[in-house]
Amino acid sequence: EKNDGGWNLENSYAQLPEIFYAPLKLATVSAPKLVILNQPLARYLGLDAEALIGQAGIDILAGRALPTNAKPIAQAYAGHQFGYFTMLGDGRAMLIGEQITPTGERLDIQLKGSGRTPYSRSGDGKAALGPMLREYLISEAMHYLGIPTTRSLAVITTGDPVYRETPLKGAILTRVAASHLRVGTFEYAAQWGTTADVKALADYAINRHFPWIQSKPNVYLGLFDEVIKAQASLIAKWQRVGFIHGVMNTDNVTISGETIDYGPCAFMDRYDPETVFSSIDLQGRYAYRNQPNIDLWNLARLAETLIPLIDENQKEAIKIVEASLQNFALLYQADWLQGMRAKLGIANEEPQDELLIAELLGLMKRYQADYTNTFVDLTLDRTSSSALYESEAFKDWHDRWKARLERQVQTNQDSKQLMKQTNPVVIPRNHQVESVLQAANDHDDFKPLQRLLEVLQAPYDYHLLNQEYMRVPELSNSPYKTYC
Ligand code: AMP
Ligand code: MG
Ligand code: MG
Repeated sequence: EKNDGGWNLENSYAQLPEIFYAPLKLATVSAPKLVILNQPLARYLGLDAEALIGQAGIDILAGRALPTNAKPIAQAYAGHQFGYFTMLGDGRAMLIGEQITPTGERLDIQLKGSGRTPYSRSGDGKAALGPMLREYLISEAMHYLGIPTTRSLAVITTGDPVYRETPLKGAILTRVAASHLRVGTFEYAAQWGTTADVKALADYAINRHFPWIQSKPNVYLGLFDEVIKAQASLIAKWQRVGFIHGVMNTDNVTISGETIDYGPCAFMDRYDPETVFSSIDLQGRYAYRNQPNIDLWNLARLAETLIPLIDENQKEAIKIVEASLQNFALLYQADWLQGMRAKLGIANEEPQDELLIAELLGLMKRYQADYTNTFVDLTLDRTSSSALYESEAFKDWHDRWKARLERQVQTNQDSKQLMKQTNPVVIPRNHQVESVLQAANDHDDFKPLQRLLEVLQAPYDYHLLNQEYMRVPELSNSPYKTYC
């Protein structure tokens, strides 16, 4: 057992009924090369970073060798993609098992881009270096921002080309997740399985993520309510930092409440609730402002799958889940409001706070103010020299904000502290993400990426007011397009 690089795998998911997965063969990868390794995460997982860097470790990250107790599978799932129900399944990822960490956590280890699976349909099962590095960068940034997310352990290049519009460098991302259970996993079970399959999946999800609800009178309703809570809290956090996921299909919504599947996601720079980055989201279905409502819509799809488990009487079950769905808006709104108050240094509650926040956002939109930097400016009292700050409307708002801060017991210093903990100084800005990915992809220069990753590890550190990384690009949101 010792000297297996610290691998400590179990395969609880693979004990679900067979319809939930397909066994996989080893990946065929020509010349795997490690390009980035997350040392702190490796340590957290109990993995020996030295061993991962060696050939045997790299072969594991490439999916062409297996550590002890690995059982490579592809997970089955379905999903509503842009509103339309489809059978999917992981078409390009190999789950090798669940690492039991030194602290006893159970975390999925998944190789994304490892080749075709029975669910690949017409896809090649592969991934290109740019998008895998992008997922690595943004997921790690999200983690350090304090937002629940899948993590990224490593990226290797495969030595094999992947063919998109042009040939690109193939790569595999090792993704680490609380689990890869999705709303779409339940949709799959409800559509192609029996009620017993849905129940097995629900029991598994409860056991893995919400074991404390097992004593509830209606555990499946308990499960639904926990997912609602986790998702409401997650989306409130996204909104607070200006994160736009880009493809909130039900297969990209986790049961655990972690952010998953970093495709065309991006952070908003100038504040505009209509912001859309994804090149395929032509209708703006997944625009910034729509994220809470879309999440609710996705949770309604989960509700449909749980109805047979919640009550024998279908009408009764529908009434019950509808009541729970009503809660989403309340939970989300409360969480969002608390976060926005904190961004303004407000620690107590007044009914007019919502209006005060809405007025600021309205002015930010009118003056095309940068979302992140505006809150940094407010934190540091640097509100001069911009069209927004020089406007009479803003000055009036600013006076009322300062007066509002007087109406709490917290000192000025307390409220500054609160603001510093809530308003990131740095986010992964689109132009910087593009530029470091280009250096890595086109010139094999990973230093800019490493440097950006380092900066993003301390997003709330006001000692590191890093002008370079706070710079807003000349061309803002609208010309920036992201691709899956
Ligand atoms: P996504 O848009 O990333 O959420 O992916 C939607 C579905 O397409 C998932 O089931 C993926 O596994 C699958 N998929 C994405 N890219 C590929 C690929 N290159 N080959 C096979 N399947 C893919
Ligand atoms: Mg996906
Ligand atoms: Mg994707």
